[in-house]
Amino acid sequence: MIIVVKPKTSKEELTKLIDNIKEVGLNPVEFEGEERTVIHVLGEVRNDTEAHFKSIRCVEKVVRIVRPYKLASREHHSHTTIVKVGDVSIGNSDFIVIAGPCSVESESQIMEAAEMLKKLGVKIMRASAFKPRTSPYDFQGLGIEGLKLLKKVRAKTGLLVETEVMDVRDVPIAAEYVDLLRVGARNMQNYDLLKELGKVKKPVILKRGISATINEFIMAAEYLLYHGNKNVIFCERGIRTFENSYRNTLDLGAVALLKKLTHLPVIVDPSHAAGNRELIPPLSRAAVAAGADGLLVEAHPNPEKALSDAAQSLYPEQLDELLKGLKPVCEAVGKKLLLH
Ligand code: PEP
Ligand code: MN
Repeated sequence: MIIVVKPKTSKEELTKLIDNIKEVGLNPVEFEGEERTVIHVLGEVRNDTEAHFKSIRCVEKVVRIVRPYKLASREHHSHTTIVKVGDVSIGNSDFIVIAGPCSVESESQIMEAAEMLKKLGVKIMRASAFKPRTSPYDFQGLGIEGLKLLKKVRAKTGLLVETEVMDVRDVPIAAEYVDLLRVGARNMQNYDLLKELGKVKKPVILKRGISATINEFIMAAEYLLYHGNKNVIFCERGIRTFENSYRNTLDLGAVALLKKLTHLPVIVDPSHAAGNRELIPPLSRAAVAAGADGLLVEAHPNPEKALSDAAQSLYPEQLDELLKGLKPVCEAVGKKLLLH
């Protein structure tokens, strides 16, 4: 960290600042310029330490040199993390597709969805049992009943199952029922939830918050890693911008940057980014080209009857076409589209 001291700072104030740096266990090295003094601070700097020095009256600027995350950083871990979900590996040269309806709605709906996915070769089914809805009057999900149906799907079809967990209290039971857990965009900075998910043995998909910066996104992953869960997958799902022609703006720059800065797998959810099924194929192909490790995409056996996110849910034949269209793009970037 570098601290730039304001011009005309008195000797006493400067000495006080230097003493303060030493008091917090850091090592100050002073450079006296013609107008300003600059202090190089050596040692491990925390976010709150940085904020503390920014608040001091004689300090003009604090520049952080080292990134605030360590466990997620590629600088600290030269390996690339490969997350195992059953017999599927995420983060290697395979391109994985996690597909399925937005919500678990009923036994017949989820079984039909599972059959559709199985027929098309998809190995992991997404479907939310707990639903974060903007309106309290909308379908709220089946809750634990939905988890039980997902377990049934798994037993009956052999598909791996993925679902969102919204509440700290539901973490242990959700971890028992499904293969892969998801933190939704609205909960990316729910730190208690992240801490709890840090303790479970199941891998976690961490979705980007609606207005989260990439730094905040990585810091949320850092929580999961720090609290003990090493199997974290980033999911870019679009951010809120001035553009309102689609639901959110898919930020593919995030995919490229996360792959560069971190060692964790990155997948893309084109469905919640677009909000419109027509845009899913081009966004998905772009995701492959940007270096994503997989997709999280909504598809429903009967989208017109979907209880949530109907307009962005692919029809079965559209999912089939999407997969066919992804294959050559995967091959072009040296990936293999993983279907069974
Ligand atoms: C979802 O995947 O069903 C969902 C609610 O997405 P997000 O958290 O990205 O809004
Ligand atoms: Mn949805």
